[in-house]
Amino acid sequence: MPVYDATLVLREGMLIYPGDPAFRMESLLSRKKGDSCNLALMSIGTHLGTHVDAPAHYVDGGATVDQIPLEALMGHGIVLDMRGKTAIDRKALEGSDLKDQTRLLFKTGNGPKLLLPEFCEEYVHVTEDAAQFLVERGVRLVGIDYLSIERYGNPGNPVHRTLLKAGILVVEGVYLEEIPPGPCEIYCLPLRIHGADGSPARIIIKQD
Ligand SMILES: [Zn+2]
Repeated sequence: MPVYDATLVLREGMLIYPGDPAFRMESLLSRKKGDSCNLALMSIGTHLGTHVDAPAHYVDGGATVDQIPLEALMGHGIVLDMRGKTAIDRKALEGSDLKDQTRLLFKTGNGPKLLLPEFCEEYVHVTEDAAQFLVERGVRLVGIDYLSIERYGNPGNPVHRTLLKAGILVVEGVYLEEIPPGPCEIYCLPLRIHGADGSPARIIIKQD
């Protein structure tokens, strides 16, 4: 059973969503300088790299990342092939073989852009009618291979609001380039940060 890592490497100079803080890591203690060990100070945004949006990202009083149930983050899911599409709309979802899966990862043509240092404003995203469809289907987790699931600059962020209000977890920056489409086991583990609106996560995918 192959095991894949769908997590972006955190490093200085990595792709950042416009306006978000850059990733930084500096040495506080260094063996080379005569300290007894190596130890670093890290500075990260809550939506850095591969990460989970908790409902509190957009919903007042919504669950924070430490309150997300583990069952939503782990279990059966599917990597859906959305390559060749410019957007994921209701029609695209109705035409795909979702089966009864409640954890969906969209593999689009975005993948290579995740590894570039510059943000690209044109990327494959989920539309409002597709977000509504995901709510109707009782989906629990939805992931995409770019830093936002929503069209860049979409006024009012209706896709985030619709999904997060319904308690659907949004996972962004999922690196799916090496992972074939199909059913899988998903393990998506954000850090357990008190009161946080999101967190970088490690995402492991197992396929038969
Ligand atoms: Zn986010």
